[in-house]
Amino acid sequence: MPRPILATIHTEALRHNLARVRSAAPDAKVWGVVKANAYGHGIERVFEGLRGADGFALLDLEEAQRVRALGWRGPILLLEGVFEARDLELCSRLNLWHVVHCSEQIDMLATHKTHQPHRVFLKMNSGMNRLGFAPQRFRAAWTRLNVLPQIDEISLMTHFSDADGPKGIAQQMQVFEEITRDLPGERSVGNSAASLRFGQDAAVRADWVRPGIAVYGSAPDYPEQDAGGWQLQPAMSLVSKIIGVQELAPGDSVGYGSSFTADAPARIGVVACGYADGYPRHCTTGTPVLVDGVRTRLVARVSMDMLTVDLTALPEAGLGSEVTLWGRAGSGALLSIDEIAAAAGTVGYELMCALAQRVPVVVD
Ligand SMILES: *Cc1c(COP(=O)(O)O)cnc(C)c1O
Repeated sequence: MPRPILATIHTEALRHNLARVRSAAPDAKVWGVVKANAYGHGIERVFEGLRGADGFALLDLEEAQRVRALGWRGPILLLEGVFEARDLELCSRLNLWHVVHCSEQIDMLATHKTHQPHRVFLKMNSGMNRLGFAPQRFRAAWTRLNVLPQIDEISLMTHFSDADGPKGIAQQMQVFEEITRDLPGERSVGNSAASLRFGQDAAVRADWVRPGIAVYGSAPDYPEQDAGGWQLQPAMSLVSKIIGVQELAPGDSVGYGSSFTADAPARIGVVACGYADGYPRHCTTGTPVLVDGVRTRLVARVSMDMLTVDLTALPEAGLGSEVTLWGRAGSGALLSIDEIAAAAGTVGYELMCALAQRVPVVVD
């Protein structure tokens, strides 16, 4: 028998979350963001749940080929654009739309031979200072692109640094609007956080939103708001089983470094899941976990292949009991990946993306 660990991708949850983003940003076209192998879920595995999107956004050419191989004929957007001139050939061949964020990418386009002009998204750096043209250089870039025969249509985009936090998007929105006011073309500004929090603003939802994390069922602004509060459902569950039980006397300790010591008689379940499966080693005693759908706590250090949970208050639980590390238990009980991420000092994004290769995955 294989190790009893299994990740499940929930098609219905993906569909629900996509609809949820649509209701938060009504009438916006939606890029389903499937970069990083669909945030660790697997592009092929999420495709059915997300095929209702208007397009797919990603940044790896190999991933774009995989989306086309699934039969998707609609828009695909390369979020970082091309990395070298010959990538443009694949863009022509697969009809990929691409971001243009620097003048070198315009140079490449200017010498590219294509029968089919490209649709591009010209990106402004409105304050995040990652990719994009500075506001004062944006219009010159637009003018340069606009005269190229290689270009079909120019859309305008920017990305927010603080859509999930107290600073918000107002400042970047103002810069973007001011510079692009009289430019033609579709716009795209909102990630998950902006779509959920500010999607009622017509300028934020025009014309394409780009939700990633929300469609996978994690709250972009946790703990300010949780996934349930946003009415999002987990798209991934990580479930294993108890493969050993230890009865502890007061003073007994557990695991590497003896970081947990029982102060009363305790029952400990050993779970077939460790950091080599993608469960964060930074989680320590107290991190929530579901055993047979009932909430209890992780105790002691997470090791490579195992972790330990407190069964003292769960006398029915034992060998073979279901353990939900995150997502949905068999009973329907939920444990948000955001809670586990917070316990590890990180975000749900990182945990999803870090699901290990060795974990078998099924789609339901
Ligand atoms: C990853 C990404 C998104 C999606 O962000 P979420 O926070 O996951 O919604 C949107 N736009 C760009 C440019 C991105 O790189």
